[in-house]
Formats: sequence, C-alpha cells, structure tokens
Amino acid sequence: HKEQMKKYLHAPSVTSDGHKVEIVSNIGNPGDALGANRNGAEGIGLFRTEFLYMGRADFPTEEEQFKAYKEVAETFKEGSPIVIRTLDIGGDKELDYLDLPNEMNPFLGYRAIRLCLDQKEMFKTQLRAILRASAYGNVKMMYPMIATVQELRAANAILAEVKQDLDARQIPYNSAMEVGIMIEIPAAVLISDQLAKEVDFFSIGTNDLVQYTMAADRMNEKVSHLTQPMNPSILRLIKMTIDNAHKEGKWAGMCGEMAGSLIAIPILLGLGLDEFSMSAGSVLPARMLMSNLKIEDAKKIANEALNMQSAADIEAHVIKSLPAVA
Ligand code: PEP
Ligand code: MG
Repeated sequence: HKEQMKKYLHAPSVTSDGHKVEIVSNIGNPGDALGANRNGAEGIGLFRTEFLYMGRADFPTEEEQFKAYKEVAETFKEGSPIVIRTLDIGGDKELDYLDLPNEMNPFLGYRAIRLCLDQKEMFKTQLRAILRASAYGNVKMMYPMIATVQELRAANAILAEVKQDLDARQIPYNSAMEVGIMIEIPAAVLISDQLAKEVDFFSIGTNDLVQYTMAADRMNEKVSHLTQPMNPSILRLIKMTIDNAHKEGKWAGMCGEMAGSLIAIPILLGLGLDEFSMSAGSVLPARMLMSNLKIEDAKKIANEALNMQSAADIEAHVIKSLPAVA
C-alpha cells in the first residue's frame, strides 16, 4: 500500500475524469511544514498560529512571527498556497500572559476574532507580520470564528490600517494577498451569501461547526456520539457554504478533520469543495482515493446523502457505492 501511494507524492490532486482540487496540510508550528511538504501536501491550508503564542512568558514579537510565517512559505515550492489563520486563542486554548476571564462557556465566549478585535495592538502586530511574509510566497490569511459581516469588516478595517502603516514605511508586502474567513459558526453559514461578497475564500472548520450545530462540546465524551460530521445537517451546511462561495466566484476549502476522512472525501468532492486541508499523514491516502473516483459518481453520492436521515446511513451509503473507502 505504501509503495503504491508513493507515486502520488508529486502528482496533482485530480479525479480519474479530470476534476482538479487542492490537497494541502494543517500545521501548528513552522517546523511541521517540512513534514507536510515531504508527505506531498501542495501547500498549507491552515497554519494554527496560536501555537506560536503558547508555552511562553510573553507575546511573540512581530519579528519572531514574521520569521515563522516566512519560513513556512519558503518550505514549499514557489507559488504554493500558504493559508495563515490569525490568532484563535480562548476556548480550550489559554495564554498565561493574557489575563482571560474565567467563563461559564469558554467555547461560546471571548475567543479568536472576538478577542483580537478587542486587543487591537496584539492583532495589529500579527497582521503586520503576516503581511510582511506575503512578500515571500503565496501567503493568504483568514480570520477564525467569524459570526457576522460586521466582524469581518472590523477586522478588514484594522488590516487596512496596518497596510497604510507599511506603505508609509515602504515595507514590502503583497497588496493583493487573499483574505478569507473560517466558516465554523452556523450563523456564518446562514449568511455565507453575504460574507462571500466580501472575502476571497472560505475555509470550513468542521471541528467547531459540528460542535456548534449539534450543540455538543467537542471535548465532552458524554456527548461525543453527537459529534457527527456526516450528519445530514452538517452536509447541508457544507453544501450551502460551497454554493454561496461559488456564486460569487470564490473558492471554498475545508480545514476541519473531516477534510481528511476517506469516507467523507467522496461527498465533499461531490459537493464541489475546492481545497482539502488535512494532517500530513492523510495527504497521500486522500490523493490516491480521489484519483480513483469520478466526479460524476461523487456528485451522485453527495446528492443522495443530502436526503438521508442519519450519519450512519450516509456512511453506509458511501461504502456501498465505493467499497474502496471502507
Ligand atoms: C475547526 O474548527 O474545524 C478548525 C479547523 O479549527 P480548530 O480545530 O483549530 O478550532
Ligand atoms: Mg475552529
């Protein structure tokens, strides 16, 4: 099996009938980019930058961040997409030096973009570092946990201030750097037609989207049976997100765990997902599977799945249609 997979290392991610997508990787540290590259990822679809902030006594400086982002961009061949997510702290991830309040419901609380819009100087430092790194590769940036159009606009207004500042100091950056958002709150899915007009791309975060849609804490084993990425409710949200992106000519990716799941991939392909971001070890199995699928079959499987009534039925349906994914 391993030998068989090797031939997909440098191959494009394409179905047997020529439908092309992108398979990229999730990383938490710049060093992880090497492993992603070695495992055949075409770039990075999610750089979880919070790990740069964790396990230390104070904020990382602009220079430290710039170096980390640039290092990731330079690990991949020129033009490879590198999607950097702005700080997603709060929830289950804490920082000792950032005095966050204790909350009854941390996952519904002061985290990610909510915190960044409030801690403007901290946010600006990160945006400056990301923009500066955009001069060294195909760097794209996305905001986590967007729930409203206003949050997106507020973040973009701060980004515009940072760009002006860099312009004034004649510091180079890619002025056309793509800016996207994570779609991981049901509210964002429901207004994805509006959001799509103001972004360059969506990246669906199914880890949180499932948790918020099913109202089941992703860390609580007592309710883990409700963590069902293949639930028809989730598939419908994914479809809506992708359709609304495409209506505006934007691309839609996914960086939640679901994107690397072999049983989910045929459905995600069929729903039109453009980019699949997963752990490094999943890249080759995913590419091999796609290479043996026809897009027309994937569309049919996805359409049928949307009208089924349980995750179990949908999984059985995929396996019956494509014994190879089992
Ligand atoms: C997600 O929510 O699916 C996601 C990719 O972000 P994180 O797992 O870092 O919350
Ligand atoms: Mg998330």
